[in-house]
Amino acid sequence: MISVFDLFKIGIGPSSSHTVGPMRASAAFVDALRAAGLLPRLQRLGVVLLGSLAWTGRGHGSDRAVIAGLNGERPDSVQPAALERLFLRASIEHWVEIDGRRVEFNAGTDLVFDTVTVTVVHPNTLCFTAYAADGAVLLQQRWCSVGGGFIALEQQVGVPAAEVIAVPFAIASAEQLLQITAREQLSIAALVLRNELALRPLEQIEAHMDRVVETMMACIDRGIASPGELPGGLRVRRRAAALHERLRAAKGRTVRAPHEIMDYVSLYAIAVNEENAAGGRVVTAPTNGAAGVIPAVIRYYRDHVEAADRAGIHALLLTATAIGALCKLNASISGAEVGCQGEVGSACAMAAAGLVAALGGNNPQIENAAEIAMEHHLGMTCDPIGGLVQIPCIERNAFGAVKAINAASLAMHGDGTHHVSLDQVIATMRQTGADMQSKYKETSQGGLAVNVPEC
Ligand code: SF4
Repeated sequence: MISVFDLFKIGIGPSSSHTVGPMRASAAFVDALRAAGLLPRLQRLGVVLLGSLAWTGRGHGSDRAVIAGLNGERPDSVQPAALERLFLRASIEHWVEIDGRRVEFNAGTDLVFDTVTVTVVHPNTLCFTAYAADGAVLLQQRWCSVGGGFIALEQQVGVPAAEVIAVPFAIASAEQLLQITAREQLSIAALVLRNELALRPLEQIEAHMDRVVETMMACIDRGIASPGELPGGLRVRRRAAALHERLRAAKGRTVRAPHEIMDYVSLYAIAVNEENAAGGRVVTAPTNGAAGVIPAVIRYYRDHVEAADRAGIHALLLTATAIGALCKLNASISGAEVGCQGEVGSACAMAAAGLVAALGGNNPQIENAAEIAMEHHLGMTCDPIGGLVQIPCIERNAFGAVKAINAASLAMHGDGTHHVSLDQVIATMRQTGADMQSKYKETSQGGLAVNVPEC
């Protein structure tokens, strides 16, 4: 079961698979050393980043994330400023701190971006090695960052989990989801909640959803209030603050642009993704690259829909969880595996479905909205310029959010019957991703990334 706790994780920018995942993998490796009783003999650490992590890891801050993880930091609690401080310490003084002890780690030589070795199991692979004082290898592990901040040991990728938690409704397809909800007379959100309750009490689930929404809304507010330039060398100007100012000024006018609401939705998504690009606090939804779509739709619902309430927002998140889980289970939410269709496409499908639920639509309409949203992202490649989650990612989230509202509206104008099912479109996303050349899958080796020169 993929839970609301899995798909909506509080972390930091700019990338779930290249920042959040590597930080978690580094911390997991240190945990493994600790569990094996090897920390007292540990003298030095070495880390090799492979595949997409090697190609675009610098732009995504993977080096800083790995070093923070080795120092015991976690994505949900690390202060964004700590990443630079720990990186500088490892670069200049050549050590990381584990359980209060200095361990040799030179960021310049012990952290390698290997763009030559081919990754066989997963395009985002990290190889960790721990050495004793005499140079003997104490432990070596290969971890994969499999998208959305999820990690797995290389030998566990694609292997069914050993421990299966029994939930009332095991869902493997949208068709099954519709059948079971019809049989049980449940909304999709209610079914997801019943499964969540098998793992945790209601108060914990609701508190998590409230914290997620609070973090998303705070992220929008920070983005709106932060002018200036994004880091990374592309010299991309932040647009949310100026756009917000223009929209605020337009409020006093008697004649307002008919498409103003779209500008607001774009503003919310851009604000989040600028914060993400700046390495700020964001919620993976379901990834960092696509982190703006769902918050923008929630803000649209909260601030622009009459009678919006907390229950509606919870229904949105729980319904989005069902759709995100299907995308992850039956295709992928990783740009490195299937391109941007898996990231912004999945986020758009989740948001569209969630919005229909919040607005009181029925289950077939929810499935229809997710299908429409995903269908019109099929084939979308991942080609971030300079390996930075800025162009095309920031605007792409604005389009994803607007499309999600459009898909929700179209679905609610119908009765839920349609030609292409959500299962078919997710299968198409998986197949298209498999056929997509690797240069379009988060390597910055093709598309916009090579046709627009870096500054
Ligand atoms: S192009 Fe899409 S998948 Fe690639 S980094 Fe940007 S948001 Fe993520």
